[in-house]
Amino acid sequence: MSVEEHRKLLSEINVDVDRHAKMMNMGLESYKAQFMSQKNRPEGMKYFDWFMSEIQGQRIAEINELRKQKKPAVGAFCIFVPEEIIVGAGGACFGLCGGSPATIADAETELPRNICPLIKSAHGFKLQRTCAYTQSSDFIYGETTCEAKKKTWEILNKHHPVHVMNIPHMKRDKDLKMWKEEIVEFKKHIEEVTGKKLSLEEMLEGTRIINEKRKALLRLDSLRGLNPEVMPITGKDALFVTQMGFLDDPKRYTQKVNELCDELEKRVEDKISVFEKDTPRLMILGTPIAPPNWKLHTAVESSGGAIINEESCIGHRYYKDNVDIDNIKNEDDLMEELMKRYSAVDCACFTPNTPRIDKILKMYKDRQADGVIYYTLSFCHTYNVESFLVTEALEAAGIPCLVIESDYSPEDAGQIKTRVEAFLESISFKKKANKLKSKS
Ligand code: SF4
Ligand code: SF4
Repeated sequence: MSVEEHRKLLSEINVDVDRHAKMMNMGLESYKAQFMSQKNRPEGMKYFDWFMSEIQGQRIAEINELRKQKKPAVGAFCIFVPEEIIVGAGGACFGLCGGSPATIADAETELPRNICPLIKSAHGFKLQRTCAYTQSSDFIYGETTCEAKKKTWEILNKHHPVHVMNIPHMKRDKDLKMWKEEIVEFKKHIEEVTGKKLSLEEMLEGTRIINEKRKALLRLDSLRGLNPEVMPITGKDALFVTQMGFLDDPKRYTQKVNELCDELEKRVEDKISVFEKDTPRLMILGTPIAPPNWKLHTAVESSGGAIINEESCIGHRYYKDNVDIDNIKNEDDLMEELMKRYSAVDCACFTPNTPRIDKILKMYKDRQADGVIYYTLSFCHTYNVESFLVTEALEAAGIPCLVIESDYSPEDAGQIKTRVEAFLESISFKKKANKLKSKS
C-alpha cells in the first residue's frame, strides 16, 4: 500500500494522520533500537519485523476491507473477549493500543491521575484519534474486571461505542451461569452488528481457528522455556511475537508462529542458544505487557538475564487453555464450553484465586527457572494486592522473587535496571554456590 493510499484510509477512519505518523515513527525507531540490534535472531522473526512495519498499515487495510463486507471488527483490552464468536462471524478481534505514555496527558483531562496507565493510555489514544485499530472498530469490548475500567467505559462510550460484558468476580455456580448468559448476549450483539444470524458451524470454525492459534503459542512457550540448556529465542522476541497475536489475522499468524517454532525446534536440536550457558532464567508474573512497553524485558536482557515466560494475559494466561469442542451437539453445548474455557482464566479480579498460585509454582518447577519478577502496573490494585499471597508462596518454596511496580514513563528505566542487576547477581551467586556444594 502506498503512503498516499495509507493516509487516505487513515483519514477515512478519522485518524489524526499527522500526529499518528509522528507516533508511529517513534514506535518504529524504538523497535529498531530494542529488537533489531539483538544478535543471532531466528530467521522466522523477519515476518514479525515486517508486521511491525505494517502494524498500522496493511493490517488496518485488511480490517477495513472486512468491515466493508459487513464483518465485525472488535477492539478489546482484555482476554475475556470471546474472540471465537467474532472470528466465526468472519470478523477481526484485536487488542487496542494501550501501552504508550504518549497519550496519558490527554487521558488525564477526563480520567483521574491515580489509575492504572493501561486504562489511561488506551483512553488517551481514543481522545487523540491516534490508534488506527480503535478507529477501525465497530465497538470496543469492555468488561467489569476492575473498578477503573468499569467506570472508564461510561466515559469512553461518549467517544466510541462500547459493549460491556459483566464478568463475575467469583466462580460459584450462579456466577458461571451468569457468565454463560453474558456470552450468549455477546453473540447476539455480534449478530446485531452484522445483521446476520450466526450458525453453530460458523462459531465452531471460529473456535477451531483460535484453538490452533493458542496451540501454536503454547508450542513457542515450551520451546523457549522448557529446556534449560538451550534458549533458542530471546524473551523480548518471544514477547513481541505474543503481542502481535492480538493484532494479526489469526490463520496467517498461527502459520507464522508454527514456522518460527519449526526453526526453534531445529535450533534446540543443534544446541543453538541466544544466551550464554548459565544465564539466569526468569519468569515474569503479573499484569499484561502491552506494546510498546518493552521496558522490563530490555532491562533484564541487557543486564545478563533471560526471560523464559510471561505468566500474564499477554502470555501464558492467554494460551494455557483451549475450548473443548469434541462433544458439541448444539449451540448451548458450545456456550457452556466457552464459559468453561474463559472461567479457567486466573485473573486477579477473582476471589479466591488460589489456582493461580498453584499454577505459578508448577510452571516454575517445569521450567527449572532461577527466579521470578512479579510485575504490576502502578495502581492495579488486584495484581498489587495479590502479590502478597503469591510472594508468600514463592518464599515458602524458596523461589527468588523481585517485585517491580512501574508505569509507562521511561523515568524509572534506570532504577529498574539497577534493581534487576542486583537481583541477577544474587541469583548467579546462588547458582555458583549450589554448583560448588554439589561437587564437594
Ligand atoms: S489481567 Fe484480567 S482484566 Fe487484565 S487483561 Fe487479563 S483477564 Fe483481563
Ligand atoms: S492492569 Fe489492573 S488496573 Fe489496569 S486494567 Fe488491568 S486489571 Fe485493571
